[in-house]
Amino acid sequence: MVGTVGEHREFHPLHQIKEARPTVSTTVIEGAALNAADRCDRCGAQAYVRVTLNSGFDLLFCAHHSKEHADRLKQVALEIHDESARIS
Ligand SMILES: [Zn+2]
Repeated sequence: MVGTVGEHREFHPLHQIKEARPTVSTTVIEGAALNAADRCDRCGAQAYVRVTLNSGFDLLFCAHHSKEHADRLKQVALEIHDESARIS
């Protein structure tokens, strides 16, 4: 039972919230818009939905596949960035 004993850090409420955020990649801007270069992982069509998983991975889906996998994605997603409303 070896843990991180002896770490007497003061947890400031605000500081704690900041640290709780997943810092997977500093290059990914949260909520960043998708563009034509983003492609669905399933079929290669233009992606309109980006799903960030709890594990930190990003998945890209076109509108069709995001709907197809919506139920499962909601269970595993940390964040779902959905731009499918842009399709006219
Ligand atoms: Zn697709």
